[in-house]
Amino acid sequence: MILEAFKELGLSDRTLDALAAKGFETPSPIQRLTIPVMLQNRNDIIAQAQTGTGKTAAFGLPIVELLEPRAKQVQALILAPTRELAIQVNDEIQSFRKGDLRVTPIYGGAAMNEQLRRLRAGVDIVVGTPGRILDHLRRGTLDLSSLRWLVLDEADEMLNMGFIDDVDEILSYAPDERRIFLFSATMPDRIAGLSRKYMRDIEVLRVENKQVTADLTDQIYFEVRESDKFDALTRIIDVENDFYGIVFCRTKVAVDQLVNNLLERGYAAEGLHGDVSQSQREKILRKFKKRHSNILVATDVAARGIDVSNLTHVINYSLPQDPESYVHRIGRTGRAGNEGTAITFISPAENRQFMFLQRQVKAEIRKETLPTGHDIVEMKKLKIKDELAEIVENETYADYDEIARELLAELDPEVALAALMRLAFKNELDESNYPEIRRIDVNRRGTSRLFIGLGKSSGYRPKLIVELLARECGIPQQKIDDVKCMDDFSFATIPFQDAEAAMKKLNSLRELAQDDRPLAKLAKESEKQSDRNPNGVRDSGRNYRRGPRDSYQRRGGSQDYSKRRDHTRRKY
Ligand code: ADP
Ligand code: MG
Repeated sequence: MILEAFKELGLSDRTLDALAAKGFETPSPIQRLTIPVMLQNRNDIIAQAQTGTGKTAAFGLPIVELLEPRAKQVQALILAPTRELAIQVNDEIQSFRKGDLRVTPIYGGAAMNEQLRRLRAGVDIVVGTPGRILDHLRRGTLDLSSLRWLVLDEADEMLNMGFIDDVDEILSYAPDERRIFLFSATMPDRIAGLSRKYMRDIEVLRVENKQVTADLTDQIYFEVRESDKFDALTRIIDVENDFYGIVFCRTKVAVDQLVNNLLERGYAAEGLHGDVSQSQREKILRKFKKRHSNILVATDVAARGIDVSNLTHVINYSLPQDPESYVHRIGRTGRAGNEGTAITFISPAENRQFMFLQRQVKAEIRKETLPTGHDIVEMKKLKIKDELAEIVENETYADYDEIARELLAELDPEVALAALMRLAFKNELDESNYPEIRRIDVNRRGTSRLFIGLGKSSGYRPKLIVELLARECGIPQQKIDDVKCMDDFSFATIPFQDAEAAMKKLNSLRELAQDDRPLAKLAKESEKQSDRNPNGVRDSGRNYRRGPRDSYQRRGGSQDYSKRRDHTRRKY
């Protein structure tokens, strides 16, 4: 049974069903630690694990198991530092038990009436921000006299935001027998003070941070000259279906400059650094979370405490100061359950520092080559077709009927359409918009390019190809470069002297073979640069869509592009 490991922690079949429906398969490290202990319900708990490691389920699952639904009394109160987090926690907990569990979020800024109505109707779990919870307590509209569990979620953030006095007062409304569970990504000293004051018989459960250098984050790097970094960045964004990422710079000046350059080119970018005021910061983050902007440029310090999930990319536009910052930065993508890509740009001047960093973080960071202008233009054509199909299907365009008829009366349809596209998209499809970015090749010679008959359609990703080559052929991971996965096949560059043996080994793996053709062979000369498929036919557009060509291309909508199109349109 797939959820065996969850079952072993002591969860009931009912909960296991809910987890199966959510697509959880195996508990995260912090969940392994907290769930059995909390199910015993014998002591207060302090739990620490990095952001994105599933702390909500770590406290939510045992509480949902233990409480008696519909007892008409609030049995658990979960305090979260912000309204957003409260809503997230509320939704997550709700998903753990369908039907009879009543969970409600209570936060400032929302209408009181609805909250009062729900509280009166009776709820089992309240998830709220301290201020609004206190409002209700003082008015007597929230009754904590039967409270069994108080959870302080993101306790470090709550301390930072000065909620300590509120917590103090909230506790005065709760019975003495309540348990307190404190969850936090970090453990500043003040947390110890907090726990001494309120908590008893504490069990501390921690997951060391390094476990987090997310398995799900694909880490790659590009060697680019400093002066080519901007072009490299825009290529990565352009070739992406649905780029949603944070770009890290070292300094405030660099952030401002990059944001300006991006805006000038029509991208929806926002910048965060130390000089951005708190209210401005909140505005920017709201916009970003709602995906009204899809590129957030930030310094390390300014990015601290940002809680955004589902990032497709983290980009190190310049190298971080130290290995910890690197881990911190890339930990923002590839969060539990979501795949993400961390990209690092390395200029020749940064090379030494990067070598050092790579050794320190002990991570597998793979070298890649940038998408070509041709790749990007193909991608854009696809997006245009998709958007056109979308309009034809779902929008009205009657306003344009008449002019369409007039144009067709005068012009050949192909000419009319092409000219109209020119008008709408100007020179978007001009490959020369993507001037050549010179490759910095230090150790290109002495390698072989392999064609491997395994691709996206059979579940392969670059990371898996690397693992396969390392495991089966004994090639050290750091010697495997420039892996690209297409739908039905992949390419990888390996040391020349290993190529012969590697192909032999791969071709002996009968169980992997898709048909009776050899699994591995040397890529044809023409494939080395452009990765045309082995028949010399370029991957058709549709393949692009179904399966990303490169590790840094993902599925998704075409948000960023449509924004650019709007931008172009507005000029008329
Ligand atoms: P944290 O509070 O530690 O930052 P969250 O509880 O917000 O992390 O979880 C982050 C994401 O991971 C959520 O989308 C959640 O549904 C998902 N998640 C949590 N536990 C698991 C698991 N065991 N398997 C798969 N996804 C999980
Ligand atoms: Mg959390």
